[in-house]
Amino acid sequence: MFTPQQIAFLERRIEQAGFGSFINPYFPNFKVQKITLATIAHTCPNRNPITGEVGCTYCNNASFTPNIETKTLPLNEQLSQGIDFFRYKYPTMRYLAYFQSYTSTFASCHKLIDLYQQALAYPGVVGLVVSTRPDMMPNALLDFLQQVAKEHFVLIEYGVESTINDTLNRVNRGHSYEQSIETIERTARRGIKIGAHLILGLPGETETDMLMHAEKLSALPIDILKLHQLQIIKGTPMAREYKANPEVFNLFTPQQYATLCLQFLLRLKPTIALDRFLSTSPADLLVAPRWNLKNYAFNAILRKQLEL
Ligand code: SF4
Repeated sequence: MFTPQQIAFLERRIEQAGFGSFINPYFPNFKVQKITLATIAHTCPNRNPITGEVGCTYCNNASFTPNIETKTLPLNEQLSQGIDFFRYKYPTMRYLAYFQSYTSTFASCHKLIDLYQQALAYPGVVGLVVSTRPDMMPNALLDFLQQVAKEHFVLIEYGVESTINDTLNRVNRGHSYEQSIETIERTARRGIKIGAHLILGLPGETETDMLMHAEKLSALPIDILKLHQLQIIKGTPMAREYKANPEVFNLFTPQQYATLCLQFLLRLKPTIALDRFLSTSPADLLVAPRWNLKNYAFNAILRKQLEL
């Protein structure tokens, strides 16, 4: 199925997958850990209870905000709690403040800049990771982050999710792929590192469509990519759609997904680091597919396929 050169390439890609492999060269003298924060936005511009807007059809934010219960704590307390977990075992470790939950830039620039400055002033914090939508990055904020990036590590993660507008409309994403391109290029011109997030398996997409995502994203100045398989989460519009019309969804087995990931990697520009292949939502929130796989177990499936 694969040539010896492809197998060697894919083995290297699997071995190097993970944020650690990406970040370590930037900080050769100490380990770095992301501290996930949930201080800024408690909702996102794609959810509006007044207009009845429910957000992306797959989204139940509790499934990807691990410390959502701490969201009301002040920033310093969240950083303190997160750092305490590591600092006794790894006294030399440094930290990236990870503004993750909902759309983390859904607030005034003034408020965001104040929080970023607080985080950067916290002992041991050496940079920022900001997760947001492609349509929520104003130039004023980019101007500030451009200045920060001259002295600190700064990574902005954009939720691209698909390169096909029909898919984005179908899942009510609320932005187009052209907006992703424009924002990613605008960010790259400021010398800020860029992460992208992509879901494989959204309804309506064929295998060819998903492999084309790799080629389209390869044309953009992306530094690191997070992949994950479509998961149907309880309480979401997609869960209701799945219950009513399960035949519309073509959920992968782990083996099918591994095959797709390997083909995807062959098409992805080698200079784009891979953060991860999987996302694992809490079991009590997950409708399907219920794989219950850790990253190392999925990597074993990937490697097994290279032996076939
Ligand atoms: S996935 Fe992000 S943008 Fe979409 S509804 Fe959820 S929080 Fe909002």
